[in-house]
Amino acid sequence: KAVAEKIAAGEVVERPASVVKELLENAIDAGAAALTLEIQNGGVRFIRVTDDGSGIPAEDVATAFLRHATSKVHTDGDLEAIGTLGFRGEALASVTAVSKVELITRTADELEGTRIALAGGEVLEQGPAGCPQGTTILVRDLFYNTPARMKFLKKDVTEGNAVRAVAERLALSHPEISLKFIKDGREELHTPGDGKLLSAVHAVLGRDFARDLLPVDYALGSVRITGFVLKPVSARANRNMQFFFLNGRLVKSRTAMAALEQAYKGSIMVGRFPGCVLHIALPPALVDVNVHPAKTEVRFADEHAVFEAVYYAVKNTIAEKDT
Ligand code: ADP
Ligand code: MG
Repeated sequence: KAVAEKIAAGEVVERPASVVKELLENAIDAGAAALTLEIQNGGVRFIRVTDDGSGIPAEDVATAFLRHATSKVHTDGDLEAIGTLGFRGEALASVTAVSKVELITRTADELEGTRIALAGGEVLEQGPAGCPQGTTILVRDLFYNTPARMKFLKKDVTEGNAVRAVAERLALSHPEISLKFIKDGREELHTPGDGKLLSAVHAVLGRDFARDLLPVDYALGSVRITGFVLKPVSARANRNMQFFFLNGRLVKSRTAMAALEQAYKGSIMVGRFPGCVLHIALPPALVDVNVHPAKTEVRFADEHAVFEAVYYAVKNTIAEKDT
């Protein structure tokens, strides 16, 4: 069983950044308004996420670490229309199988919180603990019991950068949440959580990028496109500055990228790239999210509709503002 757990864990837990992604998504699912992410040594030694969300009731704390223990899917219908980010109930079990975990949590109804400590998937201790409402999870010594996996980790700097990328995406996809990212004791990123995408873009991508953006708001059929694109005259982006979000989740979509580039055709100088932070809102039933949990590539039931929506959203914005 222990072996099976470790193999299954590998599907979700590849590196510190994948742990961070799962922990941040859990905090968002819990309705957090403010999150603090702290890492040391690229996250290999230490990852801590603190949220002010719902917390986990004492009687559910141990269960949350069991595989397929999700509180988020109750019926087959739920599976088809997934609104929350997590739905497999695998993350905590997988992380716990390959690290040392400590979690402290309290719901609004409870006077006292709960603390649980696990290592290698086994519960070491559990008991009451005083804490504010919300959840703090600490993950230490990732892959301490799977040396083969540890070997595949890159330098701390590289792992730390991958973690930062995850934090950036989250900050951009949830401007309503304040995110603080602390790396080796230094604050790297802090978004205000004021609900404005532009504030988040400013905090994440910098002042210069934020200054050269045009707002997008466009609907075509059941597809709504909002966000920002770079002015064609200042298209100094690279492909790392093309962010697409689908219903609040960062995705890779060849369709959306192609539509963006097509819309810019003729408007930008050779060798430059369009940049964007675009949110695509679609009824969940039109999205196939049931792909590998670690993959961000997304499929749409109607790729053509998404292409058209992105294309015209961008094209119209550029045309309005630049001629
Ligand atoms: P999933 O997110 O797919 O449901 P996870 O393994 O990530 O599965 O989490 C298991 C369960 O633990 C969740 O369904 C949720 O009930 C609870 N949980 C995990 N993290 C948090 C958190 N930060 N705040 C509140 N509940 C949480
Ligand atoms: Mg989850």
